[in-house]
Amino acid sequence: MELFPYRGFRPFQKEVHDAVYRGLLEEKLVLINAPTGLGKTAAVLTAALRYMLDTETSVHYVVRTRAELEPPVRELSKILNRGVDLDYVVIKSRQDMCCYSSLKKLDYLEFLAECSLLRRMGRCAYYPPREVQAPLRSVSTYVKFLCASQSCPYEYARQKMSGAKLVISTYYYVFGREHADLKGRVVIIDEAHSLFDAVTQLHSIVLSEGDLRAAYKEAKKYGFLDEAAKIYRLLTFIKRSAGAVDVGDVLGLVADLDLENAIWEITKRKTEEKVNPYTPLLLVKELRDALRGRLRYYAEVRGEYLAKTLALYPLDPTALIKESLRGVKNVVYISGTLPISIFAESLALPDFVKLDISFSDFIPRHNYLSVIDVGVTTKFEERTEEMYLRIAERLATAINMSPGGVLAMFPSYDVMKGVRKYLKISVPHWYEGPQEVDWENLPEKFFIGAVARGRYVEGVEYVKDGKNLLSTVVVVGVPYPEPSPYLDRRVELLRPRLKERAWSAVYLYHAVVSTRQAIGRLFRSPEDRGVLVFLDRRYAEPELWNELKDVLTGSLIVSHLEEAAEKTAEFFTSASTASRWPSPRR
Ligand code: SF4
Repeated sequence: MELFPYRGFRPFQKEVHDAVYRGLLEEKLVLINAPTGLGKTAAVLTAALRYMLDTETSVHYVVRTRAELEPPVRELSKILNRGVDLDYVVIKSRQDMCCYSSLKKLDYLEFLAECSLLRRMGRCAYYPPREVQAPLRSVSTYVKFLCASQSCPYEYARQKMSGAKLVISTYYYVFGREHADLKGRVVIIDEAHSLFDAVTQLHSIVLSEGDLRAAYKEAKKYGFLDEAAKIYRLLTFIKRSAGAVDVGDVLGLVADLDLENAIWEITKRKTEEKVNPYTPLLLVKELRDALRGRLRYYAEVRGEYLAKTLALYPLDPTALIKESLRGVKNVVYISGTLPISIFAESLALPDFVKLDISFSDFIPRHNYLSVIDVGVTTKFEERTEEMYLRIAERLATAINMSPGGVLAMFPSYDVMKGVRKYLKISVPHWYEGPQEVDWENLPEKFFIGAVARGRYVEGVEYVKDGKNLLSTVVVVGVPYPEPSPYLDRRVELLRPRLKERAWSAVYLYHAVVSTRQAIGRLFRSPEDRGVLVFLDRRYAEPELWNELKDVLTGSLIVSHLEEAAEKTAEFFTSASTASRWPSPRR
């Protein structure tokens, strides 16, 4: 049976399909890097399902966020329409799948406590789940169908997960603390470039002074005075600390906390009092359990007086990823912005099948103009007012030259703030912050100032009625993460194995992924056209050039963006562009 759900393959789709299928047959890891818009989800899923039907192997397709569940679910639905019969499950967080809309407004831990109470008291109308076959068109219809069948979608999915031939889930069910049993399965990891950050986030623990004060008061109120005293000692420790702290010191303060009995008793009493049974002692328990476990953490105290926070981050996300994938049959890593060699080195991946479709393979060269302005930089030592003024001048030039929307990505809020005060813009504009872009009413010309790894450069579409609203993307500086003791510790941990590449594996990796994410907002399909501006001389230097050469080769190298004005005007007024953009304002 032909599984591919479309009439024919689009350019490069067949290569993606064949690379995945070959890797699975040869039992080799597969790394696919292919730009967004190529249709890789359909190609990868079809190859994996073909392999599943041929070999009876189960497949787990995993995405980072709940919004990213939609593309594989949509493609699977189309494949199922071809008459394929297989047992599938879609799962995301319990709260997202809950049938009671009123419970979705609670804080997550309060929600868990309420859900647990409803189940224990037999007061949830959807629990236990019923045995039904939920059809699949989208995630929301799947959830709605199960709710309409009086079956809790989360509990339904959880029960079916181990036996299902295909599971589509968020990262939590593969990389979280209580991950699913993946033994013997093929795992497809979508958005693989974000794996290190996602795993770090999933295993991080953050406790505020407010959380601890609430836990202390609760323990005292319900008569657990020993526990209250110990929690108070932890609170005092946090108040007095700043920056990196010794994990051993934190463990010493919480290791012998007897919380099980206190939590059980408080939950019971709150239930009797008919209030939400959540207790903030659960957060302290989470901290204690994490520190008692095998995972190594980096700990720091952040923030100011009265608003301090204790944060713990896993020191070695690489080890966590490997641990989560232990026993799987094979792994397919897919991404649109993956620096494959650094990624493979970081994870010490052995022999693998690789398909790396570069930006210039996918987007015809005549569809974009790239400019590197070597007259500016956001290098830390050179961040002066004079430099911010120079960057602002270039940005004003870019906005003036562009007939459509301009997206500028800054490496940090600080740089954005520094440049912003010198930038006078006459078109509608927004900066990343509390104010939301008016997506529905974006005019033909606009400016958006975004921050690397923020919400305006990742997981957001600038496409309306099939047209990309952006005509220019400006990458201001190099989006290296701000240096931090935590990231430096991660570099040191990698150094024995990666030597001088250890720094690249942590810092350069993020800069390359973020730069490609910004570029990807402008190019969602091979028909998109536009100008890419790189405002930092380091793009012309070997380190970044080598990682981004598919984009940067053929760039105009100028010492002021003004020098590229004529070429830019020509580009925007060229025959094939003219139909998309009105004449630029000079
Ligand atoms: S069992 Fe399911 S439907 Fe019932 S409260 Fe919990 S999550 Fe919601």
